[in-house]
Amino acid sequence: LKALRWHGRGDVRLDDVKAPQLITSDDVIIEVEATGICGTDQEEARHGPVSIPTSSPHPLTGFRAPITLGHEIVGRVIAAGPEAGVAVGTRVTPTPVIWCGKCNQCLAGAISRCEVLAVTGLSADGGMTDFVRVHAYQCLPVPEGIAAATAALVEPYAVAVHALDGVDVSGLLVSVVGFGSVGSCIADVVLSRGADAVIAIDPDPWSRQRAIDGGAAAALEPDQARSMRASLVIEASGAERGLATALLAAESGGAIVVVGLRGGEVPIPLPTLVFGELTIRARVGHDVEAMKQSVAGIASGSFGTRFHEIDVVDLETARSYILDQTSDRRGKKIVFSPRAEPTFRKPRR
Ligand SMILES: [Zn+2]
Ligand SMILES: [Zn+2]
Repeated sequence: LKALRWHGRGDVRLDDVKAPQLITSDDVIIEVEATGICGTDQEEARHGPVSIPTSSPHPLTGFRAPITLGHEIVGRVIAAGPEAGVAVGTRVTPTPVIWCGKCNQCLAGAISRCEVLAVTGLSADGGMTDFVRVHAYQCLPVPEGIAAATAALVEPYAVAVHALDGVDVSGLLVSVVGFGSVGSCIADVVLSRGADAVIAIDPDPWSRQRAIDGGAAAALEPDQARSMRASLVIEASGAERGLATALLAAESGGAIVVVGLRGGEVPIPLPTLVFGELTIRARVGHDVEAMKQSVAGIASGSFGTRFHEIDVVDLETARSYILDQTSDRRGKKIVFSPRAEPTFRKPRR
């Protein structure tokens, strides 16, 4: 079997691997239908390691590099341990979050803040291959009617749902800074929940065009952010100037939700924050409830398609997409499928 494995920065290989086996009694083996590629994968490949353990094994999973990438997985259970509670044949999407269930955060139900959190595809082998082992508790059933490539969007949409947890967007003007995969998902969920309008803020003209095509009311370059102020701003870029741009895009008394994360410290315009009495909150990943809401939203068609054009690719193409800094595919969502035809594409620039 072939698997796309992260060995080090700039070093992602198509390796021959053995099929995973059941180990603990609640393990399941999933035959992969599709696995989405995420900015996190590109970040690990180009600038990492960020989350992938290299020197010592992850305390929860025992894995360290090389690790098979891929955490936006949909597939079918083909084997299950005696205590899995998931029937063989069930179509599932696993949350990539592996939590300990014992720490204070887990006991409080905040699994995305687990103190020893692990992630399938980063700190355990993921779905950029034919078969992946996960815990049964990670798995949510997925209706048969959803196309595999669309079902692979459940995880990024769960990130969007979690980012908006506790936020009522109805009737609001909402700006989204960074119109990549996560930003597009958030804008989509925001519109499905009755926001007045969405404004996209992104330096890339193709991302801005995609936003307009999908129903954003306006698309601005970052230095135009002040020109249309929103009561809620989502910072989904993680760029060095992302939070500063988000603050400038917020009207006085407004709120900023930060979900983008790329580097370390970022500058912020302090007077804008203080004089505007702005509120900043942060969100990361998702929880099981967000995954459930994401499955339901995609299954019902209330979100999932507004801003996404999906390209289904094979492993070799996935590898070059993850590594190649120049091919941005114009903001398309790239999804690996073991059944994709090999693709040969001309460079676009
Ligand atoms: Zn992701
Ligand atoms: Zn925990």
